[in-house]
Amino acid sequence: MKLNFYSLSSGSSGNCYYIGNEFHGILIDAGISAALIRRFLKDVDISLQTVMGVMITHNHIDHIRGLEVLLRKNHLPAFTTAKVWESILTQRVNISRNCIREINLKEKFHLAGFDIEAFPVCHDAPETIGFHICYGEKKITIATDLGHICQTTAPYLKEANLLVIESNYDEEMLENGSYPYYLKTRIRSDHGHLGNLQTSVFLADIINDDLHHICLAHLSKNNNTPEKALKTLQRTFSERGINFSGTQKISILKRNIPTEMINLDDW
Ligand SMILES: [Zn+2]
Ligand SMILES: [Zn+2]
Repeated sequence: MKLNFYSLSSGSSGNCYYIGNEFHGILIDAGISAALIRRFLKDVDISLQTVMGVMITHNHIDHIRGLEVLLRKNHLPAFTTAKVWESILTQRVNISRNCIREINLKEKFHLAGFDIEAFPVCHDAPETIGFHICYGEKKITIATDLGHICQTTAPYLKEANLLVIESNYDEEMLENGSYPYYLKTRIRSDHGHLGNLQTSVFLADIINDDLHHICLAHLSKNNNTPEKALKTLQRTFSERGINFSGTQKISILKRNIPTEMINLDDW
């Protein structure tokens, strides 16, 4: 069974991810314009007509910027919890009733061959969720905005074969950077974002043979670089004596452009 993961854009300027088999796909978040989503998918020969729905993690603009137009133009359903819907609709985002699908936390549902489960993460939106998506034997977990990894969240991340996890800021760059104190505090808080070291230590704790591919996601433009995120992870692994090589891979997802498609059949 063919399965691909494709990051169209990842970071505080916009998030959108695609998971698809040879017939259908789903999107996770629509934080870039609908036109860009269409174009980036077309670049890899994916038609929006094969997309069966959009999963929404929370109401921050970098996750819903293109949602309204995307749903309207393509008559797509979008899936998230009642609380997240409420927070989106109060922002005067105009979404037709026909497109709204309410899902419950920690309750699997089935769409286009995928088993999908939303799980809670700690972040400063009315509610924020991650998605655990299974297709056959393969498991993908996406958790892009979270201040820390609590006990409810961790099991979903530990289960993944492909894990898309936030590595938002380099701790030193944030500390020495120009952001006002209140903003630094918000980012570092338990309901803000994950730093490189925080993510690396968590990954070193959970690493196992079934984790085939790590994607570091949602990197900050001002407080991180892809090199720093990768180096921190590699250093943490080497300090722990972890040899993450061979068939196991690490990708750093690009901020405003797509990252090369990941084919999960290579494992
Ligand atoms: Zn975000
Ligand atoms: Zn957010």
